[in-house]
Amino acid sequence: MKSFEYLKRRFKEYYKDNKEKIPLVSLFDQREFGFIPWDQQIRMIRHMGFATRDNLIKHLINNGPRHVYSSGSLYLNPENKDMKNKSYLGCDIIIDIDVDHFYTPCKEDHDIWYCKECGKNGKGMVEKCPNCKKSKLKKLNWICEKCLNVAKKEIIKLIYDFLIPDFNIDIEKMKIAFSGHRGYHLKIEDNDLRTLSSDERREIIDYITGEGISYEILGLRKMGDNIFGFSRETIGWSQKINRKIEEILKKTNIEIETLLSDKRTFNLNKNFIENLLNYKNNFLNIIESDNMNNWTLVNSNLNTWYKFLGAIVEEIGIEVDVPVAIDIHRLIRYPGSLHGKTGFKVQELNPNDLDDFNPLDEQTEKLDPIVFVSKVQTIQKLEIIESDVPATKIKGETFGPYKLGDKIEIPHHIAVFLLCKGVAKSI
Ligand SMILES: [Zn+2]
Ligand SMILES: [Zn+2]
Repeated sequence: MKSFEYLKRRFKEYYKDNKEKIPLVSLFDQREFGFIPWDQQIRMIRHMGFATRDNLIKHLINNGPRHVYSSGSLYLNPENKDMKNKSYLGCDIIIDIDVDHFYTPCKEDHDIWYCKECGKNGKGMVEKCPNCKKSKLKKLNWICEKCLNVAKKEIIKLIYDFLIPDFNIDIEKMKIAFSGHRGYHLKIEDNDLRTLSSDERREIIDYITGEGISYEILGLRKMGDNIFGFSRETIGWSQKINRKIEEILKKTNIEIETLLSDKRTFNLNKNFIENLLNYKNNFLNIIESDNMNNWTLVNSNLNTWYKFLGAIVEEIGIEVDVPVAIDIHRLIRYPGSLHGKTGFKVQELNPNDLDDFNPLDEQTEKLDPIVFVSKVQTIQKLEIIESDVPATKIKGETFGPYKLGDKIEIPHHIAVFLLCKGVAKSI
């Protein structure tokens, strides 16, 4: 395809012009590398190793791959094709947070699906066709500031609500990156944690997501007609839950009612919500006190509390891509490389950069993932080849939405983005 030849050339140029800026990951020569080329016949070229960064850069300049990955794992022989003979030495903890895997309301505006079975189409996040219930869906997932912000907040929560307070992990050992598309990943480089098995990693992830949490172990119990909740003093999940309840109770009555009746989250019945509002201040006193935990005044039905707490845990838990975190042979995007579905750079970030970082309109040049903004104003002509293309807001300017056959004139970086997305062709 002509567009892909063009993109490959641009990617090669990027690697040539930025060869000094591509970061060196730690223990570089022990990592396995993988590449997805532009040629769609080939899925992925794996089991490659590079002795030096220069060798990798040479490879990138010569091939301009569509996607570039390296392993979280360390091996004595990373290029050996047989997993058994690679001599596995350990694996960094990798936590991937990608809006592809969880609901955000803005998807109703910009994610499009089309059922290959019955032809129905619509917007939003669906797993199955709501019409024929089959899952043969073609999806066009888009980027937007809102969902990228949600993903960023999840990463911040992960670091400051879990990894530091509950696991005592040194922030210096965390490497964070914007993925170049719809998420972030965090890598923990720690010698002790590298030895953890998949099962042990799953336990950490279950803790972080709140999966399989036991309210009884945390202290919830029914004694006679009384319900006893969590005491504020206990650190970990019970403290997080108490704080979240406190945060909710401090909202206005209307806000509380809207939140707790939301069908997608709490979905609580009127009685519970009414009681909670009636006893709001008393309950707040109990929650805020160090030695009171009798929650009976709101409701004495344990099942309703389970439902309420379940939704609270959902709010607190982190939206992690679980298979990525427990698989010790996964590859993740190499920092400084380009994401072939957007043309954006995989941007490494310090934890301190996170708060202000805005991937689609970044003000600090060295952190800007949009690398194809041309210095001279160049306009490119493209034709849209997809029936519906959502609007794209990059660097404060909105382009589209577009329809099939639209002929458009747009700046270079938007052209690269639309070509990478495969929704347009050069004319
Ligand atoms: Zn269908
Ligand atoms: Zn969005």
